Amino acid sequence: MTRDRVAHDTQLLIDFLNTNAMGRLPDRLDDPEVQLKIVFSFVPAFRGESVNRSTVRHLRRLRAALFAVINSRDTLAAHAAWNALNGLAAGVSYRYRFTKPSSVELAQIHGDRTIGAIVACAARAMRADSWDRVKVCARERCNAVFYDATRSRTRRWHSYARCGNAANVAACRRRQRSHR
Ligand SMILES: [Zn+2]
Repeated sequence: MTRDRVAHDTQLLIDFLNTNAMGRLPDRLDDPEVQLKIVFSFVPAFRGESVNRSTVRHLRRLRAALFAVINSRDTLAAHAAWNALNGLAAGVSYRYRFTKPSSVELAQIHGDRTIGAIVACAARAMRADSWDRVKVCARERCNAVFYDATRSRTRRWHSYARCGNAANVAACRRRQRSHR
């Protein structure tokens, strides 16, 4: 798997996860245009003019499962998150398609096409361990997902200016109050 492919896959997954409701912003998957954009990003050959309801329902479940996988705070929650993801992955199946010696593709044979494409994309990202760097912003209720490119893997905020600062100011105020 090339680095570019992995980076591209990971970015698509981050964009998908960032359709989540954040703060006062609603779930972006409510918007039919966003639904189409997400489906096109994973299935460029998609020809429909709208995304059917069952796919949208599955998209929301899959997004919730992937989000829970990166955001679960204890092993029990993580276990439940992986179970949910496996439940969705069980609805799609693939077979190897050999074309030439250096080329083996995984072709989907069963299940929702978009969900199949996203599950395959997540599998590639997880295998290449770029997934370990996908994180949820530490600011409460922010929910933004970002890629931690730092060498130490210690980035906490999706944007320091927007969330890091605000969180530090809040912590500072709490400290000042408790010293009074
Ligand atoms: Zn944030």
